[in-house]
Amino acid sequence: MCYFEQTRWACGYWKWGNFRQQCNKEYRTGETCGLKLVYDTSYLDGVCKICDQITKKDRRYRKMEQDIQRWQHEGNRRATIEKTTKDMADLNIQIGALYHSHQEKQRSIC
Ligand SMILES: [Zn+2]
Repeated sequence: MCYFEQTRWACGYWKWGNFRQQCNKEYRTGETCGLKLVYDTSYLDGVCKICDQITKKDRRYRKMEQDIQRWQHEGNRRATIEKTTKDMADLNIQIGALYHSHQEKQRSIC
């Protein structure tokens, strides 16, 4: 068991930081035994990069939604609507994947 710093965001996401202290099972200098323990946690006020990306993609998604509604009223925008609908589906998958990796990380709290 070796000790590492940990960073934790307000949204619950966390990551390992610098290696701090070796345990007595590991005798090789500079090596770690593979089992990580928290030495110290620094808490950040903001949300993590993943949340940031989700927010941005979500904003784009909503904008596309509004665009499509507008185009439907305007008429003659069928090709654009089809393309945007596809983009929205892609975006939806991306958001889902980001959300999933965030959930996984939160669940693996040590
Ligand atoms: Zn987050």
